[in-house]
Amino acid sequence: MVTEELAGRVAIVTGGANGIGRATAKWLARNGAKVYIGDVHLLPENHDEFFTLGIEEQECDVRVEADVEKLVARAVKAEGRLDILVNNAGIGMAKPITEVTEEDWDACLGVNLKGPFFGCKHAIRQMQQNGGGVIVNTASNAGLLPRQHDPVYSISKMALVGLTKSLGLCHAKDNIRVNAVCPGPVCETGMMNADLEKSSDPKAMKQGFINASPIAKALNRMITPEEVAEAIGYLVTDAARFVTGTTIAIDGGKSLGVSQS
Ligand code: NAD
Repeated sequence: MVTEELAGRVAIVTGGANGIGRATAKWLARNGAKVYIGDVHLLPENHDEFFTLGIEEQECDVRVEADVEKLVARAVKAEGRLDILVNNAGIGMAKPITEVTEEDWDACLGVNLKGPFFGCKHAIRQMQQNGGGVIVNTASNAGLLPRQHDPVYSISKMALVGLTKSLGLCHAKDNIRVNAVCPGPVCETGMMNADLEKSSDPKAMKQGFINASPIAKALNRMITPEEVAEAIGYLVTDAARFVTGTTIAIDGGKSLGVSQS
């Protein structure tokens, strides 16, 4: 879908330099929004395409409140408003709890939960002045059903779903909608590529991810970042004007229950 539906709207996407965030930033820009991305690791390979699409890039560590505040302030100073925030920056933590250090815990909860807290805090202040806005948090299927291999990641994403519902409730009166997408397994992302690179048998690992999602298994492929971006796109458009506090699983049924192997 390509429309001008988001013309005049201003959007921020965190973790917008790669994977799902990059696909989302491009989707929003192609559908008319003015997009600002914040990322701790900006990639030179994005510059030309982002320039063509009018996507502005800013270094931003979502764990640092001043960075997030600066990103929001930059968009508002230049455009006079903020309509859309996609809290997408995230990191994995595939370790049993017995091996998780305090630093690991702080890193995972810092990016996956504290970052969205800072994003919501500063975006909501601005959206209250606009008369409304939309926030989408990128959670995970692990935010719906915990996974054995990454308990702390699962905890961070479940808490993010909690933040989504709580703020959806608190700010419906301000016409601010807060929803989450729960994707996975998503291919061609920094996170997935790093997992596959670390594996002694990447092919088997990839097939394992595919087999864990019934529709991915039926199609014999993972979900693409663009397919997640389309769902985020639905949530930020007016078609979803009464949708708040919800989670959309884009996981091919992975979080529905235990499927037959
Ligand atoms: P990705 O690694 O391609 O993208 C994550 C982006 O976040 C990167 O650009 C990275 O530089 C950025 N980032 C990391 N730490 C940051 C920080 N402190 N401040 C700002 N930016 C930071 O991976 P992705 O899969 O596209 O991840 C996007 C989101 O999707 C994450 O929240 C992730 O948990 C979630 N997710 C991914 C999958 C998957 O299968 N890939 C599944 C479910 C959920």
